[in-house]
Amino acid sequence: MPPLNEQPARPVPKPKHKRRVRKRGNASKYSTAVRLTIIERDKGFCVRCGALYDDIHHIIFRSAGGKGTVDNGVCVCRKCHAWAHSCREGREWFERYREERLLT
Ligand SMILES: [Zn+2]
Ligand SMILES: [Zn+2]
Repeated sequence: MPPLNEQPARPVPKPKHKRRVRKRGNASKYSTAVRLTIIERDKGFCVRCGALYDDIHHIIFRSAGGKGTVDNGVCVCRKCHAWAHSCREGREWFERYREERLLT
């Protein structure tokens, strides 16, 4: 019987889950159309570092009343997305990006 723990080391843990937002339908959720518009505008790359995007980030957090609108969403890679949520600097970087690039 082959040992189950004999797996090659990975630099990044393999995602086991598909993260689909499946909460109550509400205003913070991006519709397919909004999502596509954001991806097209950002060309599918992280707006901060240029890597292929993994997520669409709510610049104004949903918890703060941010809506699922085109001017509140940006393509981000996993790393930058984690950064955006991990510290004030990250959050403010995107808020500034929004003011300079999306609201003008
Ligand atoms: Zn990035
Ligand atoms: Zn986010």
